[in-house]
Amino acid sequence: MNNYKHILLAVDFSEHGKQVSAKAKQLAEQNQARLSLVHVVENLPITDAAYGPIPFDVDLTQEWMDASQKHLTDLGAQLGVPEQQQWLEMGSAKLEIVRVADENGVDLIVVGSHGRHGLALLLGSTANGVLHHAKCDVLAVRLKDD
Ligand code: AMP
Repeated sequence: MNNYKHILLAVDFSEHGKQVSAKAKQLAEQNQARLSLVHVVENLPITDAAYGPIPFDVDLTQEWMDASQKHLTDLGAQLGVPEQQQWLEMGSAKLEIVRVADENGVDLIVVGSHGRHGLALLLGSTANGVLHHAKCDVLAVRLKDD
């Protein structure tokens, strides 16, 4: 079996995400693979019941992107991932993760999985979404707080 050559770790900067990062780092070392990071700032519909939809605030978006960029840079430094292998995107997490993977020759995507049940499973988690759309292998690391 061939080793993985390029592993993409999808990060949400949550506390339990450390388990996922540790696993991706270990796999990259074992496979002597390149490790890349992706974080997606998702568009949230901001509405006000009295006044209707409020246009998405550009400054707020920029602040959010800046804060995310800082988290990504810090995590990149911790994991030894160079800047050119860190992706900060906006949009749907599952679609952007898969797009970055497709465009950069990724052969394994690593995500965390809460192993949800019932309605949440029907609605689909990020891990489910990535699994359904990805053309490469996907590792869903079961998060221990379930
Ligand atoms: P979720 O099902 O959305 O709670 O997230 C499960 C996993 O999907 C996380 O552990 C991350 O690996 C990944 N993920 C979730 N949200 C994002 C995001 N905004 N950007 C990148 N990866 C994410």
